[in-house]
Amino acid sequence: MVVPNLTAQIADTRGTMETMTSPEITPETVPSAAEPNAAERAARRAEQAAAQGAQQMRISESRAKAEGRAQVRPTAEGWKQAMGEDGRPQLQFTAKARVSQPPVHLADLTLAERADKLKEMGLQGFRAKQLSVHYFQHYTTDPELMSDLPKERRAELAAAMFPKLLTEVKRLATDDGKTIKFLWRLFDGSLIESVLMRYSNRITLCISSQCGCGMNCPFCATGQAGLTRNMSTAEILDQIVQANRVIAEGGLGGQKHPEERVGNIVFMGMGEPLANYKRVMNAVHRMVAEAPEGLGMSARGITVSTVGLVPAMKKLAEENVPVTFALSLHAPDDELRDEMIPVNSRWKVDEALDAAHTYYVKTGRRVSIEYALIKDMNDHGWRADLLARKLNARGRGWVHVNPIPLNPTPGSVWTASEPDVTAEFIDRLESAGVPTTLRDTRGKEIDGACGQLAAAE
Ligand code: SF4
Repeated sequence: MVVPNLTAQIADTRGTMETMTSPEITPETVPSAAEPNAAERAARRAEQAAAQGAQQMRISESRAKAEGRAQVRPTAEGWKQAMGEDGRPQLQFTAKARVSQPPVHLADLTLAERADKLKEMGLQGFRAKQLSVHYFQHYTTDPELMSDLPKERRAELAAAMFPKLLTEVKRLATDDGKTIKFLWRLFDGSLIESVLMRYSNRITLCISSQCGCGMNCPFCATGQAGLTRNMSTAEILDQIVQANRVIAEGGLGGQKHPEERVGNIVFMGMGEPLANYKRVMNAVHRMVAEAPEGLGMSARGITVSTVGLVPAMKKLAEENVPVTFALSLHAPDDELRDEMIPVNSRWKVDEALDAAHTYYVKTGRRVSIEYALIKDMNDHGWRADLLARKLNARGRGWVHVNPIPLNPTPGSVWTASEPDVTAEFIDRLESAGVPTTLRDTRGKEIDGACGQLAAAE
């Protein structure tokens, strides 16, 4: 999940719904004549969607008007969204075509599976531990540096266990070198991005989980090309190992000591992590596994975000890994969120919030609500009040809202809220007792959101 013009971050009422399904636009009112053919059905659905859109627009606009504000609608700029028969943006949950996955890498396997593979190669199982130390603790796949392995087998072992997964295409640095954006080419030519950021007390890496994305958000460069394929577990993990190597080599600005490494992971790069559930969870398990099986990271430092894939959110709540969970909400009302986040047509705001609350109940981990504040689109006072009502209706202390300031983009519908509007939005949430923190943004100079760099190549 990415956000327009941002790097590394990282949107109802039942009453509204009732209005949305007003008699004017229900299928029953479509005159029944001869059985319509597919093209006619598509045209009718598009007409109904347009009528529904117009109806919604009137509701939003009247509320905005009552506040003396405008209501900007989300529109794709610079590309055309793929639309389905129903006139709505297409959602794609699986790859369009049969695609091959990268060769199996050590990081795809558990320690026991690594040992088995080595035994098949005629080596003793303990070699798995040695190879794992090289990869997860020394961040190396260079056979010349593996002096604890039999010299005559090193090259063969490295080739079998460490096929090259990520090739660096571009590296852009900003904030005095404390923010680095990487563009990587994968084995099949797919391009993905990750962003490394040093803060005063931590180093965070924003990682990608899919090549492309099928969620088709109108503001997102990644979504426009659709989903090419899911990334493998090892491809996801290799972004961290590569970043740790850069840090160890002193490549991230503001180095404090040579042993420092990535401590926080945010799944907010390219792709919808929960649409690649199995591999993402395998990667998470490997991140938290004790070294040398994995990276030995704290689960609390790992943030898994989603635009609201409710069944997967429920599944995540049942996993015994207390990661931080973030819901990229961006609008509390279905009428706006249907347009901003197309997956909302599948799972509505209330369903997503219920699933987020379930996550809190099952794990005891406070949930984050990500909310990119976009001028005159989703930053109205009534939306802050509605968000607070919806969150408070599910209890207190279970959630934290992170409004995210957008980069100012004059002339675009995707531009920053005015400072006084941002302050009022936060104020309203806090006054309602909802903990709220305005998020920092990084990398404004290096091509905005995840996906823009890859789209430009
Ligand atoms: S299209 Fe995918 S990557 Fe882009 S914002 Fe939506 S969920 Fe995130």
